[in-house]
Amino acid sequence: MQRVGAGTLRAADEGKRVRLAGWVHRVRDHGGLLFFDLRDRSGIVQVVLAPQDGAYALAQGLHPEWVVAVEGKVQLRGSAAVNAKIATGEIEIAEPGIEVLAESDVPPLLPSAADLPEEGVRLRNRVLDLRRDEMQRNLALRHRLLQATRRHLDGEGFYEIETPMLTRSTPEGARDFLVPSRLQPGEFYALPQSPQLFKQLLMVAGFERYFQIVRCFRDEDLRADRQPEFTQIDIEMSFVAQEDVLGMAEALTRTIAEAGGWQVELPLARLSYAEAMRRFGTDKPDLRIPWEIVDLGPLKDAFTAPFLQQALEQGGVLRGLRVPGAGAFTRRQWEDLGRQVERFGLKSVPHLARAGGELRGSLAKGFAAGDLAGLESLTGLCEGDALLVLAGREEPVSMALGHLRLVLADALDAREAGHRFLWVTDFPLMEWSDEEGRAVSRHHPFTHPHPDDVARLEQDPLGVRAQAYDLVLDGVEVAGGSIRIHERALQQRVFHLLGLGEDEAQAKFGFLLDAFRFGAPPHGGIAFGFDRLCMLLAGAPSIRDVIAFPKTAKGTDLLTGAPADVAPAQLDELRLRVLAPDALRRQES
Ligand code: ASP
Repeated sequence: MQRVGAGTLRAADEGKRVRLAGWVHRVRDHGGLLFFDLRDRSGIVQVVLAPQDGAYALAQGLHPEWVVAVEGKVQLRGSAAVNAKIATGEIEIAEPGIEVLAESDVPPLLPSAADLPEEGVRLRNRVLDLRRDEMQRNLALRHRLLQATRRHLDGEGFYEIETPMLTRSTPEGARDFLVPSRLQPGEFYALPQSPQLFKQLLMVAGFERYFQIVRCFRDEDLRADRQPEFTQIDIEMSFVAQEDVLGMAEALTRTIAEAGGWQVELPLARLSYAEAMRRFGTDKPDLRIPWEIVDLGPLKDAFTAPFLQQALEQGGVLRGLRVPGAGAFTRRQWEDLGRQVERFGLKSVPHLARAGGELRGSLAKGFAAGDLAGLESLTGLCEGDALLVLAGREEPVSMALGHLRLVLADALDAREAGHRFLWVTDFPLMEWSDEEGRAVSRHHPFTHPHPDDVARLEQDPLGVRAQAYDLVLDGVEVAGGSIRIHERALQQRVFHLLGLGEDEAQAKFGFLLDAFRFGAPPHGGIAFGFDRLCMLLAGAPSIRDVIAFPKTAKGTDLLTGAPADVAPAQLDELRLRVLAPDALRRQES
């Protein structure tokens, strides 16, 4: 008899004899009737045994996570026994024959348990953790999104082409993972931070439309939703302008989102980088939060607090954020918020609050009642609201308000339902790096300057916009890309501004620059952070929940124990020596 999926059976199957196989999910012995739930990839079904059934004694010895095969009859449950919580809740399997296929030790993590153990336990026992319904659903979703991506891009004429994993450094600017070469001792491969240079080479090679669902590696200190190895949907196209790439990426986004059960209307919203910073204080605004930063410049005389006036005299801007519901915050709450902005060089959050018909808050003294009407019409401030007010240099002021916007949206549960995609375009081409004492690329050195700004590259390099774009979903960057420079002279000018000498550029990216000598088509592309996209579509709290075998925030794999030491003979073959932890320091001193 052919095996059927436990979760596929319905009332219409009543009377059929079926063969199932899977894991014992839960056992309930009611002293008389004995029940157990059988779980496989498709779901769960209840098996029932009466004392007169031949398999009764065997079933009494079953434990969670044993693997069994069951052959029995589908019968309707009495109406009182219907379990509306599971898809098979109207039926059960009766008079079963049971064969034990494998026993299980007592599992350290029970897939049927309602409470999750801490994440370390989950990662160490990943196989058991992956058996949980939530993880089964997440990885099934990931699979569907991958297949939808492939079908979509194939349908649009893209070729899937693989690029090397053992390669040279790529230009994303993070630290490389290095792999020592045995055949060329003392030399190293780098794992790719992305296939950036290769996909550009593929354009020069005439493939016109490339994609790859590809693992990328960046050796960075990990933040909450980062992994040292992660998956990108990497795309490059020839003979295109920015609009073509955005249009292609929007259609793909809709396909992927629909595969995850979301509806997406095109075209997606857009903001320039400058506008995103001005209105939301970030280059990845979460548009579900309905508050915007306002320019309080027209009312600058109304704010008499000396520290604000002083900042204005020094040429600063005056910006505010109206927060409905914060009017009634206590002193303590404002003090807590003050601590949230310490990293922006602020000690407190100056504010006005309207509560109980009064104007309160740290800025209320000195704010003339006569100016209230002006404030109301400029900001919409009304009873129950607070207005946060900052003055100073534009960038830190915007960023601090942008940060407070997120913190307060969390505290006040202010995000609107639904999901919001947004393109952010016209990023600056370069930014100043204090660390390196030079301008660095915001995206990478092959990013094309905005055509309107090319002429002033040398005069105002930090003011030049790039043809670079990010796709943001609910405040998370899910894709980013750019139109590339394909003109050699322009590339030289940009390298020059980045302080990259000809020799250095040649040493780093010579193979790309050489290829450009033989006719490079105009091209551009984008890469989607696939893990983050999965996480958001799954509604999962972490990207680790949509990756089968992820690493911890320290970059370790608790399941395999990687990274781990290796046999001395392996190091000898590579002609490598590992220094004691403090050896470098001793050498320096
Ligand atoms: N290679 C870039 C990145 O990984 C994406 C792109 O420009 O297409 O950020």
